[in-house]
Amino acid sequence: TDTDFSRFFPPLLLCLYKYFGYSAFRPYQKEIIENILEGRDCLVVMATGSGKSLCYQVPPLIAKKTAVVISPLISLMQDQVMALKQRGLKAEYLSSAQIDSRAQSKAESGQFDILYMTPEKACSIAPSFWSKLLNTGICLLAVDEAHCISEWGHDFRVEYKQLDKLRGILLNVPFVGLTATATEKVRIDIANSLKMKEPYVAIGSFDRKNLFYGVKSFIRGSSFMDEIIREISKFVSNAGSTIIYCTTIKDVEEIFKILIEAGIKAGIYHGQMANKDREESHRSFIRDELHVMVATIAFGMGIDKPNIRYVMHYGCPKSLESYYQESGRCGRDGIASVCWLYYSRSDFAKADFYCGEARSANQRTAIMESLMAAQRYSMLTTCRRKFLLDYFGEKYTSDKCGNCDNCTSSKKESDMSKEAFLLMACIQSCGGHWGLNMPVDVLRGSRSKKILNARFDELPFHGLGKELSANWWKDLACQLISYGYLIETVKEVYRTVSVSPKGVQFLSSSRPDHQPPLVLPVTSEMVS
Ligand code: ADP
Ligand code: ZN
Repeated sequence: TDTDFSRFFPPLLLCLYKYFGYSAFRPYQKEIIENILEGRDCLVVMATGSGKSLCYQVPPLIAKKTAVVISPLISLMQDQVMALKQRGLKAEYLSSAQIDSRAQSKAESGQFDILYMTPEKACSIAPSFWSKLLNTGICLLAVDEAHCISEWGHDFRVEYKQLDKLRGILLNVPFVGLTATATEKVRIDIANSLKMKEPYVAIGSFDRKNLFYGVKSFIRGSSFMDEIIREISKFVSNAGSTIIYCTTIKDVEEIFKILIEAGIKAGIYHGQMANKDREESHRSFIRDELHVMVATIAFGMGIDKPNIRYVMHYGCPKSLESYYQESGRCGRDGIASVCWLYYSRSDFAKADFYCGEARSANQRTAIMESLMAAQRYSMLTTCRRKFLLDYFGEKYTSDKCGNCDNCTSSKKESDMSKEAFLLMACIQSCGGHWGLNMPVDVLRGSRSKKILNARFDELPFHGLGKELSANWWKDLACQLISYGYLIETVKEVYRTVSVSPKGVQFLSSSRPDHQPPLVLPVTSEMVS
């Protein structure tokens, strides 16, 4: 009798097992693959390590057509092509740097399952290439690291913006955008830029349960270096790898030097090193010959090392998206790992520097907003995981995760109703269109020219808060922002702080001595 094997061994599962050796799909993989095979555009937003690549690697094997994958880095493509070849797939990559016309003509005649291309190559290759490929069969066009398309993303790349040209050429080919981080704004931007038609959208969870998140503030100096060495030595003795991300090459070199002096096997990686040295450094780290990699964010995409136990940020990153992505390289094997962020207040004054890269007013605003989110995360006194997930639009139902510094350490709390009242009232009296410095200076009784000109020295609040430091007031403001009493907005590079409706209610509902106390955690700045 004829048994319908395919009923027991669906072709997708068969393919997954045959080529990849896996017996089950991870969440969303099957749905994404099915949608692609039906010709539907897909937008895939899933955390690093969740298995996004498989979503575009399976369809060509089922459809027996080529999948074209746009990827930003040649080193990444090389790794992927090698891994796929080992699995018995026919894979190759094309970049503008190559003059390999053989690979191109092989591609045109449909000899590859998967063809990687840089965005530059995809936009500059002759139109005849695409028409030949359409004839032989192309089952999808995937755009990896798709957030690079968006000006609102943290890693905008002009080459990516031009990919929309391909839509007009590859009319009925499903487009698949994949990224590990995207806020709603960026998601919409990706879908629009690639002119997606009612895409199937798969958004995985951003919750990396095995990662501990923590933040400390620091002041540059030798005593802090001692702390770093102590910290790192702890992890090195536990046989786990560590990445230390720095914001400047100067910091990278400095920390690298003290680690080496302390006898720690450390490597170095940044954008100004020769390619050869960088690759060598990367390789030694992957092979566990180095315990610690000190790097700028140039050490990034494509680090698929499972046993990184610790990611330290020395200095606050320029956006919360990049923080999430960089810290996310930790613990990919699912084993408990930690992410500590060390920031100093001066990190938040670098906006002008970052905005130097901006090409438009929108982009400047986007850069500022990203930096502000990173600052808020740094100065947060509530659950960091909840904040991160909220930022990416994911509901985290609990107020405490139990696996971040704010959830595990009990901070002293104190009733700050009076001070909160003062600060909010002062912000309101100043007209609500200043940054934080103005109202804080007014409270501290400054008689600067700016204050005299605005006649803020005549306000009843002038000088009422002078026994507390400016940083004390700023920490309070941060907390009031995260609890929703104040709102911080940004237009290009200018930040303004105003009182929210919740804050107005607090101010108007009763006199300070009548309202329920506003009990807030005491930050380190507030103690000293
Ligand atoms: P991403 O692109 O989302 O960062 P990858 O595609 O690199 O993630 O996948 C991460 C790891 O998970 C890889 O080693 C991959 O082989 C593995 N993987 C993917 N899908 C499955 C699956 N269905 N079952 C088991 N392992 C999988
Ligand atoms: Zn928490």
